[in-house]
Amino acid sequence: MSVKTRTGRAAVMTEVKKDLEIWDYPLPEVLPGCILVRITCCTICGSDLHTWTGRRKSPVPIILGHEIVGTILELGKGVTMDSGNNPLRVGDRITWTIMDNCGKCYFCREKGLMMKCTHLKKYGHDSCADPPHFVGGFAEYCYITPGTCVIRIPDELTDEEVAPANCALATVVAGRDAIEIQPFENVLIQGAGALGVYATALASYCGCRRIIVADVMEHRLDFVKQFGATDTIDSKGLSDEEVIGKVKDITGGFGADVVMELAGFPPLLPLGLKCLRTGGRLVEIGNAFAGALFNCDASDIVFKCLTIRGIHNYDTLHLQKAVDFLQTARNRFPFGRIVGQRVSLDEINTGLKIAESGRTIRVAVKP
Ligand SMILES: [Zn+2]
Ligand SMILES: [Zn+2]
Repeated sequence: MSVKTRTGRAAVMTEVKKDLEIWDYPLPEVLPGCILVRITCCTICGSDLHTWTGRRKSPVPIILGHEIVGTILELGKGVTMDSGNNPLRVGDRITWTIMDNCGKCYFCREKGLMMKCTHLKKYGHDSCADPPHFVGGFAEYCYITPGTCVIRIPDELTDEEVAPANCALATVVAGRDAIEIQPFENVLIQGAGALGVYATALASYCGCRRIIVADVMEHRLDFVKQFGATDTIDSKGLSDEEVIGKVKDITGGFGADVVMELAGFPPLLPLGLKCLRTGGRLVEIGNAFAGALFNCDASDIVFKCLTIRGIHNYDTLHLQKAVDFLQTARNRFPFGRIVGQRVSLDEINTGLKIAESGRTIRVAVKP
């Protein structure tokens, strides 16, 4: 049977906070440079929840999901290699960047900011109303277009280990590179969700000395200890002064060399600045939604000679580094435990509610 005559199922969001609906769409013709993938796993990211709850605006109808892994069903003409020069064949397992960028615009070519491409398309972020329809992860298929960086998955990594690399881990790698974390530094990680868990593992792998993780959920702080956290701070009910005091106690009275804000709670940014030592660096990643206002004494930045970097998404090289990191460090950290629950495509609404509860770091959708 020709692919053209077949249809596939997708969980479609038509309205904020409304249950997703299972729709059938015709499978697209695979054009040169494109790939049709049979999705095997898509993990639910915090930003999928932002869209579903209306915290972030998106067009509808939409197929959410961007932390995707699948097997190649059909290769378009001219696609022979992944971005690491590994041959690609039908049946290979692959992951790919969250975005398709043009490679030719001002941001792609001149400024090294392909995630800000003026012709940017993002999987799980654009309307699915028009063909090829399959542009998100909560579906049976995904249609990959030529501006996407595709990576063949090493055999030893499971689908569940790799899926969150596409967003959470690659973003943390971009944050680590931006702030240039060095061996023996003391790091404060704000938030022990997926970003915080990966940041902890990376800091540990980089040889950091004290890796302090703060969160308001005790079970997350317990979990992150398996990824190299040396100290945890349960900040529920603590004043800012108490948190700062704890960080200073752990770091010889100076404060952290590096703070990573990964929780997406605006007041954590000024608190993070106060937790830094003089000359420290902060990377802001979590507050990826409009209206994230905070109060800050600008003299904290001036008098302490601080550096602040903002990171949104990542460059293609960071996804390759993310997969390399999983492959290299898989015997050191239990990446397979990050997915704590699994649902089928038909159970997607249950999956979203589990993800929203924060009971587990990641929920996997297995279509
Ligand atoms: Zn571009
Ligand atoms: Zn994401």
